[in-house]
Amino acid sequence: KAFAYAPAPESRAIVDIAPSYGLFVDGEFRDASDGKVFKTVSPASEEVLSEVAQASAEDVDTAVRAARAAHAEWAALPGAERAKYLFRIARIVQERARELAVLETLDNGKPIRETRDADLPLIAAHFFYYAGWADKLPHAGFGPDPRPLGVAAQVIPWNFPLLMLAWKIAPALATGNTVVLKPAETTPLSALFFADICRQAGLPRGVVNIVTGAGPTGAALVAHPDVDKVAFTGSTAVGKEIARTVAGTRKRLTLELGGKGANIVFDDAPIDQAVEGIVNGIYFNGGQVCCAGSRLLVQESVQDELLDALKRRLATLRIGDPLDKNTDVGAINSAEQLARITELTRAGEAEGAERWSPACELPSTGYWFAPTVFTNVTQAHRIAREEIFGPVLSVLTFRTPDEAVAKANNTPYGLSAGVWTEKGSRILKMAQQLRAGVIWSNTFNKFDPTSPFGGYQESGFGREGGRHGLEAYLDV
Ligand code: NAD
Repeated sequence: KAFAYAPAPESRAIVDIAPSYGLFVDGEFRDASDGKVFKTVSPASEEVLSEVAQASAEDVDTAVRAARAAHAEWAALPGAERAKYLFRIARIVQERARELAVLETLDNGKPIRETRDADLPLIAAHFFYYAGWADKLPHAGFGPDPRPLGVAAQVIPWNFPLLMLAWKIAPALATGNTVVLKPAETTPLSALFFADICRQAGLPRGVVNIVTGAGPTGAALVAHPDVDKVAFTGSTAVGKEIARTVAGTRKRLTLELGGKGANIVFDDAPIDQAVEGIVNGIYFNGGQVCCAGSRLLVQESVQDELLDALKRRLATLRIGDPLDKNTDVGAINSAEQLARITELTRAGEAEGAERWSPACELPSTGYWFAPTVFTNVTQAHRIAREEIFGPVLSVLTFRTPDEAVAKANNTPYGLSAGVWTEKGSRILKMAQQLRAGVIWSNTFNKFDPTSPFGGYQESGFGREGGRHGLEAYLDV
């Protein structure tokens, strides 16, 4: 089946993107100290969306100083006053949700259906949730007088740009910290629009600062001597580098890193429901999700039935213009990410796994990858071990629950897992045995601000979300 590329110009008009943006420091937008800029493009069309200032080490220093200067007053505000700002931000996010959803889809390449129905509601929910904590910290179980850490340096990836920002900024502000945040270089725009929302909400200057740029900007921020807390979400390789930088300093560290989630389907699972969960697990956001269900572990006796149903379902997915409300799978975020996916899938073929994709026509401009399934995969294959971060599912089989647990745990990561079975007792037992920060049963990729989220092993440490997410920003 061929899929048409259907541009939706009317949606594009919802957001007004300026030709250039500055850094957001001390409550105002400004150029980089050395005048350097970089371009951000739409991965679906390769259209240049805007030019963005590239923060130098000097700019990072100015931003950290602004955050430090704002800290004492912000931390001294009664919690109920900080809550008012967070509630205001949450409401403005809701009011501007359409604009932000279109912006995020343009800069990231993910379908508008996802930014509109998943990212934006969760972003607002995060600010509402942590606003609710701001005046209850003495009663949160951390002792009578938990203190903020000070200035938080936050570095985030491109796969959920505004949602990762919300996960970082909402608990930091609720607990009385000030922030310097660096968004990813391929998706800087929504963080800069968020800066505008901070101004609209009347947030005191210096409480939130946004420094745009690539790895070196992030490295300068993390290494800055006047930072009290480092929160990083991104690849395990960069996470390890940051851990080395922070080691031996006073800085607190939380790391949210990569994953290789297992979606485990038993023979008593409702097959149609499991198929939906598998599709959501690995093709949501084109598989560019840290907790993606990138390994399917299926019980041998239902393998054929499940794979037939899965392939029929994949043949109905619509791939194409992310601004089209009917699109299921959008663009890959960057040429580099596309190259990484391509390299790993070639390795899969070379190592003897069998590759399958539904017949589909991909747009000729932009960065695209068809939904892909690999069968005949062994645990030794690179596609079973390494994070692909793309719409690629590796299928393995098992016979017994113990074998399923052993295979699911055979990974240096430990972020997520899914268990599909009608047996409640089996779900509870598997949940105890699987080494993963989040375990879904009969669903996948469900998020809620009240739930702590984070990894085991090389997926990182620390928890974001829920009451536990407060602890990462407090001296208790
Ligand atoms: P990345 O590690 O390359 O980049 C993440 C961020 O770190 C970017 O802002 C980047 O500019 C910055 N950065 C790069 N080098 C740096 C350095 N030396 N010092 C400081 N900052 C630096 O990761 P990515 O490719 O942008 O994102 C994909 C990765 O993120 C995947 O591995 C994915 O699993 C992970 N991720 C994890 C979670 C989670 O919650 N565990 C969520 C989303 C993404």
